[in-house]
Amino acid sequence: MKKHVVLLPGDGIGAEVIQSSQKVLDVIAKEFNHTFTYATHDIGGTAIDNHGTPLPENTLEACKNADAVLLGAVGGPKWDNNPSHLRPEKGLLAIRKELGLFANLRPVKGFEKLLHASPLKEEVVNGSDLLIVRELTGGLYFGTPSERRDNGNAVVDTLAYTRSEIERIVDKAFQCAQLRRKHLTSVDKANVLESSKLWREIVEEKKSEYPDVAVEHVLVDAAAMKLITNPTHFDVVVTENLFGDILSDEASVLTGSLGMLPSASLREDSFGLYEPVHGSAPDIAGQGLANPLAMILSTALMLKHSFHLEDEANLIESAVEQVLSDGYYTADLNIAGAGKKVGTEEMTQLIVDLV
Ligand code: ATP
Ligand code: MG
Repeated sequence: MKKHVVLLPGDGIGAEVIQSSQKVLDVIAKEFNHTFTYATHDIGGTAIDNHGTPLPENTLEACKNADAVLLGAVGGPKWDNNPSHLRPEKGLLAIRKELGLFANLRPVKGFEKLLHASPLKEEVVNGSDLLIVRELTGGLYFGTPSERRDNGNAVVDTLAYTRSEIERIVDKAFQCAQLRRKHLTSVDKANVLESSKLWREIVEEKKSEYPDVAVEHVLVDAAAMKLITNPTHFDVVVTENLFGDILSDEASVLTGSLGMLPSASLREDSFGLYEPVHGSAPDIAGQGLANPLAMILSTALMLKHSFHLEDEANLIESAVEQVLSDGYYTADLNIAGAGKKVGTEEMTQLIVDLV
């Protein structure tokens, strides 16, 4: 298989962890006889410094012509006082919108060696392995009107969805469930909201297209509770933009570590943008200390969702599990028991050796 990947290192540790992705992809290519080609482009603060804009035109063009995009992280104190159109984060929002990435996937998996670092009881989080599929380009964040009225004393935000916007995210979630344990939880507030009623109707309609997937509907308040009382109940969770924003941050505490969480932003075709959930970590940038595992797990998501290379992706995920259970850890990880502390390059090499 031949695929072209655009690498957007961005800022801070982004540049360090993206190299880890490339090393892992190179070994996958060698082992499985694939060809991956790369092009590196600027985004975020680096792009502001080099081109005067957080999303240069040629970065966007390169992404449009790629099979998938890997992104490190953007932002840092250097650009914190910039005017709003020259903020690194603007580059990230713009690229997601320009590329039409409406589905945000956040897998949350509790690694055994890290469970004790979660604020929740180990026996509760043990075995949790879920995927949140959040709608990313609709709902309250984009509804009109969104404004102040009566001299600023009244406000309105609008929660709007069209049938096709709901259908495409629901389809994406069913497809994800088919690749996992075939259980889908649709989260809504159908006892109150009209948008949720349509959402629920569409999930019910779609069920027959995916007969191998078991479906349940859970109200968002109950889902929020169940995520921390019984996280192993969940496989794939699909929900609208705001509910997904809240639930994915809530779910991230299950793992006990920010440096372990990957994400994917997808659309209807197989194209996707993959990035770690963590930021640019300016406090440790340039020191070779960054944990590359979230970026490496994001790379596995790319292989799975954009290139349909299940075996290759699974191999990477098992390698990550293996290095942790062998006791290797980066400075940000609080592992159980004795272990061996390693930096970015060493951690990457451990994964490469196992692939
Ligand atoms: P942002 O606004 O971009 O989300 P943030 O400050 O909220 O930035 P991060 O940049 O992710 O979040 O950093 C939060 C803390 O976690 C920092 O102390 C950082 O060093 C640490 N951290 C984040 N990612 C990693 C990583 N991959 N490896 C090691 N430490 C990390
Ligand atoms: Mg943050």
